[in-house]
Amino acid sequence: MSEDEELTKKVKDLALELGADKVGIADATLAEDPPHGHGNPSAMMKDAKTAISLVLAYPDATYGIDMTDDLIIGGIYVATQEFMNTELSRIALRLARFLEKEGYKAVVISPELPRDEKRWAGAISHRYMGQLAGVGEIGQSNLLLTPEWGPRIQLTTVITNAPLKVDGPKLIDKVCKHCNTCVEKCPPRAIGAENYPPYNFNINRCFWGVMGWYRLTKVEEPPKDWVDARPTAMIMVPKYERQYPQIKEYQELESRLGWYPLCAECVVHCGVGIEAAEKRQKK
Ligand code: SF4
Ligand code: SF4
Repeated sequence: MSEDEELTKKVKDLALELGADKVGIADATLAEDPPHGHGNPSAMMKDAKTAISLVLAYPDATYGIDMTDDLIIGGIYVATQEFMNTELSRIALRLARFLEKEGYKAVVISPELPRDEKRWAGAISHRYMGQLAGVGEIGQSNLLLTPEWGPRIQLTTVITNAPLKVDGPKLIDKVCKHCNTCVEKCPPRAIGAENYPPYNFNINRCFWGVMGWYRLTKVEEPPKDWVDARPTAMIMVPKYERQYPQIKEYQELESRLGWYPLCAECVVHCGVGIEAAEKRQKK
C-alpha cells in the first residue's frame, strides 16, 4: 500500500487540534482475527485500509476519588467518562468528514461498544486497534496501556480506505511491567498470570466485578455456572438477580446514571498509570 504522508500529517494535526491527546494509525488489514469475538474492520468497510486510533486521557485526579461511594463514582468517574466519549465522538466525526472532503470513505465507531447478553464484544476492539496503531500495548490486565497515562484513557476508532502512513504496532513488550498487581488486585480473579499474552482474561469473572455483583453481594468468587456460562454470563443475570436482591440497588442507579463500572481495580492500581500521573504532578 502506498502511503500518503501529507494526508496522514493533516489527519493527525487535525485530531490533535480538535482535542485528542494522542493519535496513531493502524493497518486495518492486520485486524482480521481480533481477540474475544470482536469484529474486524473489513466487516465495517469492505475496502478498509487503515484505522485511526484516538486517545483521550482522564484528568489525573479522577483516580483519586472515593471509588467505594456510588454517587461519587456516578458524579465524577462516570460523568467524566461520558464527557470524554462525547469528545471522542465529536473528534472522530470531524475526522471522517475531513477524509470525505479529501475523497475517501470513513466510518466512525462509538467509543461505547454496543453489547447484549449473547455478545459482549461490540463492533471492534478499540484496545486492539490502539495496539496495532502504536498508541499503547494491551497489558496483562487486558487494558490498553499507554506510556503517558497507563490504562487511564478512553479510546475510539475511525476506519477508512485512505492510504495513511501506519505507525504501529510498536509498543508491544514496552509498556506493561508484568508486575502482577492487576492479577492480585482483581477480586473475582478475572486476570490470569498465565497465558499472557494474549488470552489470560476471563470476561465472565470480570462481569462479576465490573457489574457490581462482587461489591454488592460480598461474594468474591463468582458461582461456577456464572463463570462457565456461554455465550456470556449475562444469561445468568435473571437467576442471580433473584438470589441477590441487593443488586437492584446498582440496577436502579444504572438506569438513572447510565452503565458504569463498580470495579476499576485493574485501572486504579496499574503502576504505569500511577507513575505517569506522579511525574506530571511533580512538574
Ligand atoms: S474491572 Fe475489576 S473485575 Fe474486571 S478485570 Fe479489572 S479488577 Fe478484575
Ligand atoms: S498492573 Fe502491572 S502487570 Fe498489570 S497491566 Fe499494569 S503494569 Fe501490567
